[in-house]
Amino acid sequence: MPDSPLLGTFLSSNPYFSAGVGVLGVGASLAILRQGLTRGMTIARRQLLVSLEIPSKDKSYAWFLHWMSKQSIRNAHQLAVETSFLQHDNGSVSANFKLVPGPGRHFFKWKGVWMQVERVRDNKMLDITTGSPWETVTLTTISRDRHIFTDLLREAQELALAQQEGKTVIYTSWGPEWRPFGLPRKRRSLDSVILDQGIKERIVKDVKDFINNGNWYNERGIPYRRGYLLYGPPGSGKSSFIQALAGELEYNICILNLSEIGLTDDRLNHLLSNAPERSIMLLEDIDAAFTQKREAQGYGSSVTLSGLLNALDGVAASEERIIFMTTNYVDRLQPALIRPGRVDFKELLDVASDYQIRTMFLRFYENETELAERFVEKVKGKGISTAQLQGHFVFWKDDPLGAVQNADSVTKGW
Ligand code: ADP
Repeated sequence: MPDSPLLGTFLSSNPYFSAGVGVLGVGASLAILRQGLTRGMTIARRQLLVSLEIPSKDKSYAWFLHWMSKQSIRNAHQLAVETSFLQHDNGSVSANFKLVPGPGRHFFKWKGVWMQVERVRDNKMLDITTGSPWETVTLTTISRDRHIFTDLLREAQELALAQQEGKTVIYTSWGPEWRPFGLPRKRRSLDSVILDQGIKERIVKDVKDFINNGNWYNERGIPYRRGYLLYGPPGSGKSSFIQALAGELEYNICILNLSEIGLTDDRLNHLLSNAPERSIMLLEDIDAAFTQKREAQGYGSSVTLSGLLNALDGVAASEERIIFMTTNYVDRLQPALIRPGRVDFKELLDVASDYQIRTMFLRFYENETELAERFVEKVKGKGISTAQLQGHFVFWKDDPLGAVQNADSVTKGW
């Protein structure tokens, strides 16, 4: 019985027992001390440190990683590579590698302030919209320097925007959201696209009128959107013109492929209503999505014609929405798709006219007016596309006479 005086005397006089109590006491004090320290650290952390979390879903995430890749990455030991592909106007593709901090912890100093960057990839959690692992980057620094985050994000944003300045960003759909495709491209000038006389001016004027008349639409409660259809044989410059138009307007382009597998009516609707600001929506080869053959085979796109019509009609953006559609086969389009309100402006970009042949020749071989006329006489009326002409002139790059003498090869091909 512990409260018996005899037992008490025995226990207190027993050296082994006393030592045991002592050890226990030290252990307990250490545990309390440790707890106190951890609590103290947490409080100190809260008081002294400040963190900023950037989830991969946020726009500034990509800006930050890009910005980070420009910092003294030498200090980071775990790097990740991000590759982007860029397709040039001539069709060639080049790859661009960027080294960014990989998952893990990195320290770096910016403007005299030390910061910790922690990039965490959650393998169990997927960003269901993109299918990529969920990621966050957390920046930590001491409280006193919290202003640094704002400066840093501003600089990252400016860097990202500067990269786009004077360029056209091409967006493609990625799940239900728009993502830049490759690096921003150098703006294509309108002069570089040669259409038949008056066509370019007509379209450019129409689009500019539309952009400048937001109030007119708002006052009348008319949806502020305008649809354009460019049709004509392949290689007549439809895509090139839209790219040049975007450059002229300082707009970006959102390309939507309606034949894309997995694109549903809902997603289409969402994409059309949530396009990035100042962008032209481009629906290419609009005929291909709904050919009877495709539907009969029952594979491929699950966008229905009525889904597309609804999506087009439902675009209720407060900002203007410019939609361009292209097709090589206008007669295959369902009339409902191209009725006014959905398509307000149609233009045929046809095989090269005499004017286009001459102008293109002179763009490649300046001042060779006489040869230009000889060339026109040789190829006119043969249904040649401007893309074919371009191919021919590139082949005879430094030899205008060769281009004329071998004019037959444009029609026959090589
Ligand atoms: P489309 O969209 O009508 O099929 P593209 O615009 O894709 O034709 O043209 C294919 C290639 O031919 C591009 O490299 C483009 O530069 C060139 N090209 C076609 N038409 C023209 C044109 N009218 N003016 C200048 N280049 C053209």
